Amino acid sequence: MTDHVTIVGAGPAGSMLSILLARQGLSVTMYESRPDMRTTDIGAGRSINLALATRGIEALREVGVMSEVQEILIPMMGRLIHDDGDTSMQPYGSRPHEYISSVSRTALTSILLDAAEATGQVEINFDMRCRGVDFEANTLQFTDSTSGEASRVPFTTVFGTDGSASAVRDALVEVNGGSVDIEPLVHGYKELTMPAGSDGRFQIEKEALHIWPRRDFMLIALPDLEGTFTVTLFLANEGPTDSFEYLASGGDVLGFFEEHFADFAPLVPDLADQFTTHPHGRLATVRTTGWAHGDRAVILGDASHGVVPFHGQGMNAAFESCIVLDTCMRDHPGDWATAFAEFEQGRKPDTDAIADMAVANYVEMSSSVVDERYQLKRAVALELDRLWPEQFTPRYAMVMFNTIPYAEVQRRAALQGEVLERLTVGLIDIGEVDWQAAERMVSELDFNQASDTGA
Ligand code: FAD
Repeated sequence: MTDHVTIVGAGPAGSMLSILLARQGLSVTMYESRPDMRTTDIGAGRSINLALATRGIEALREVGVMSEVQEILIPMMGRLIHDDGDTSMQPYGSRPHEYISSVSRTALTSILLDAAEATGQVEINFDMRCRGVDFEANTLQFTDSTSGEASRVPFTTVFGTDGSASAVRDALVEVNGGSVDIEPLVHGYKELTMPAGSDGRFQIEKEALHIWPRRDFMLIALPDLEGTFTVTLFLANEGPTDSFEYLASGGDVLGFFEEHFADFAPLVPDLADQFTTHPHGRLATVRTTGWAHGDRAVILGDASHGVVPFHGQGMNAAFESCIVLDTCMRDHPGDWATAFAEFEQGRKPDTDAIADMAVANYVEMSSSVVDERYQLKRAVALELDRLWPEQFTPRYAMVMFNTIPYAEVQRRAALQGEVLERLTVGLIDIGEVDWQAAERMVSELDFNQASDTGA
């Protein structure tokens, strides 16, 4: 064990982790491949804003920055669905605190970086890209991103928070025999900006996450503090029509938007221009084993558990992982090998569960939200939650407004899903539900047993 540690990657996970480690009394040196986002515009086009939910908020509160973060949040009370020219609001929950918030990635990370530096124990080196870890020589290899100069830096323990293409992870699994499974999604994404209106105000409802669900593809929009919306198109990467490949190779971009998103297209005057110049991002689920190497290295955040963005949980989960790791280290002072091993063992079932739920949520966002049966089940789920809140919590609320471990959420949601199926089979309206049967079924839900049997 040492009182000096190294972090590679100063994104959301690295910046939060640095504060937690400083609070353990450690001195921290952090390396980040990009320039300092607080002083340099590092360019748009990559998940400009994010949905922040309870797990992330709890972690931000824990490191003492939540009151500052509160100032930069825009509440999103529900999904505002744009379907065939009509709009309808689907609230996220039935209680005042059951909403999510849109937050700028840059502003949020900047608050964390400032808080890290304010501890007086965190030194951050920007423009330093890690190229590898030499566990025998105890050095990290870097390239200066501006000068191209290569260097080696000694380390004792390294925390890899360098995202889904993690260099620390690649070095780690070579020495510990771990595995990296990257499952690409057939869909990619592109971010666009909907400008504020001529009066400087939002052009569409501010306090909502907008969705244009079109089954095989969808558009979503999250509000920014500037009166703009960050709009993300999720679309197949390849295919003869309705794909990024098609649109990039001469397909009619404006025609595509006018055909499928007629109410959206006129709100972005330079739509075709933005589409051509903004990057096309790929999406994947990253599942790994071998998160640690004794007490020398551990990975977390997207580096060990990257998820697709359809549940808005990647960053929230990364923040939660930082808290879990910090707890394991505090539980085993002086024995980080045990702490890191316990971290992987306890956390991996949860990150695997959110990975599955995030993939499944694509179907919910892109098509189920306009399906009548889905809407009936959702209405019944909210009513069961209102009537018997101790026994029934909708899955979305368990993921977004709770800190119930993700694996437990997945188990409970499967059992609750059966209840919803049985209660609504053959029905078209919530008025037809047999509430006595509902009460019986809900009282029979036995989550403890489910957990024991692994059902
Ligand atoms: P990253 O954010 O990837 O940060 C890694 C950092 O390490 C970066 O600063 C990078 O520059 C640096 N780095 C990388 N390689 C090196 C290297 N070799 N050497 C040094 N530094 C390096 N999550 C949510 O919770 N809510 C959302 O609404 C949401 N929406 C999303 C929308 C999209 C389109 C995408 C793609 C993701 C979304 N996510 C969302 C997921 C979220 O962005 C990630 O889960 C989160 O950023 C993970 O944080 P991280 O710190 O682990 O990794």
